[in-house]
Amino acid sequence: MAVVTQKSVLSSVPTQLFIGGEWRDSLSSTTFPVTDPATGSVLTEVANGTMADGTAALDAAIAAQADWAATPPRVRGEILRRAFELLTARADEFAMLMTLEMGKPLAESRGEVAYGAEFFRWFSEEAVRIHGRYAVNPAGGSRLLTLQKPVGPTFMITPWNFPLAMGTRKIGPAVAAGCTMVVKPAHETPLSMLALAAVLEEAGLPAGVLNVVTTADTAVVSEPIIRDPRLRKLTFTGSTAVGRMLVEQSAEQLLRVSMELGGNAPFVVFEDADLDAAVEGAMLAKMRNIGEACTSANRFVVHESVAADFSAALARRMAGLTVGKGTKAGVEVGPLITDKAREGVDELVRDAVDRGARVLTGGEKLAGRGHFYAPTVLVDVPADARVLGEEIFGPVAPVTTFTDDAEAVRLANSTEYGLVAYAYTRDHGRVLRLSEALEFGMVGINTGIVSNAAAPFGGVKHSGFGREGGFEGIHEYLETTYVSLNP
Ligand code: NAD
Repeated sequence: MAVVTQKSVLSSVPTQLFIGGEWRDSLSSTTFPVTDPATGSVLTEVANGTMADGTAALDAAIAAQADWAATPPRVRGEILRRAFELLTARADEFAMLMTLEMGKPLAESRGEVAYGAEFFRWFSEEAVRIHGRYAVNPAGGSRLLTLQKPVGPTFMITPWNFPLAMGTRKIGPAVAAGCTMVVKPAHETPLSMLALAAVLEEAGLPAGVLNVVTTADTAVVSEPIIRDPRLRKLTFTGSTAVGRMLVEQSAEQLLRVSMELGGNAPFVVFEDADLDAAVEGAMLAKMRNIGEACTSANRFVVHESVAADFSAALARRMAGLTVGKGTKAGVEVGPLITDKAREGVDELVRDAVDRGARVLTGGEKLAGRGHFYAPTVLVDVPADARVLGEEIFGPVAPVTTFTDDAEAVRLANSTEYGLVAYAYTRDHGRVLRLSEALEFGMVGINTGIVSNAAAPFGGVKHSGFGREGGFEGIHEYLETTYVSLNP
């Protein structure tokens, strides 16, 4: 098998728009650069789609919708299955591409390829399980039928932090349900999505079902699509601020909307927890994706009797991590996506320290090229520190303490976000009480990772609404028609 290198993946990745089954340049003939966050150097140039390109992509999706909805579910499912197999076979190429544009270490990129591909396998199986219902009118006489139909043309906006999986999590169920789509990836990481479009094309997805518009002028391209009366659904993964704006735009056409937004996950460690396991889980929940995940543990809420031991063990593990360019062997922590993102993380640490927090390890930017930040543990963090209230999106672990279960729940819930909460405890009764009391869409018990293609991923409160994955995932792309049938 050929060795996968930076050069080999960059020479084969598509860099044009994918519209109506054709790869073509932007109508403006302009491009924008994609850079490596580990070095700041330009990897390649990608087509800079215009408003007219966005409209052309929507035209293509609209034109393909009727035939795609009428395509047998088994055929739709088998295309996804082939794409799953292609992605799996090319995991090393996809991982290299993702590490180059996003920064995370190769092993983690391989993990994302496996996770992302799994949505295609899961929804290839769900495509043939779209059921309606049949009932007799309770009053007798007529019959009540319900049909499930594809929602229709969907606009998908995806973020840079999981450049592949945030796409497959939307594309998989949409393809399975019979929807056509326009995808706009984040301008920081368009390459993984373009490579994914090529895989779906190779897997036999008909022209126009998937259209990809890359652009550096996001708002200019996306707003007319969202306001177009022919669009039926908007699905967005990204920040709460942008999500809120897009919900406002979507109100004009009363679109079906799914919003996967920010998080501020508490990681609660009770006095009866297996502390070694809790530290292990904390490393995963905090450091997966360099802390740049909506599911990242944002606040460690630890029982006062074990807080010192937990913090010391966590700091030892964090201090031992190898930081560097993600393509280098042995590297465990890559760079943050941009210098602006790194500045934001540093500001949160400075604010906490100014208010009295103590740095157990890290707490600073690393010198040299690339946006590297030292893995950091903060203790004695006062309740008003910004780092506890805002999404950190970086390798910083602030630790606070609690004295009883009621306080743990109150602290965990004291955020406007509601994506995921983690807890370590061996008390099963407490697990049930917690699961009921925590105001989050997902709860991880004795685990640092909850994401799974077979489970409904999503949040409440300012983390948004809608679910991706699981049995629930496909319903985001289906509409119900009820038929009153008088025999
Ligand atoms: P972002 O909101 O800036 O960008 C996300 C996407 O929106 C990108 O494609 C971007 O180009 C686009 N966008 C930005 N401004 C826009 C505008 N005015 N109109 C239309 N589109 C626009 O977020 P980000 O910094 O790329 O991603 C990080 C955020 O995403 C974090 O808050 C994180 O928690 C969240 N996130 C959530 C989930 C989830 O499933 N809940 C998953 C991953 C990331």
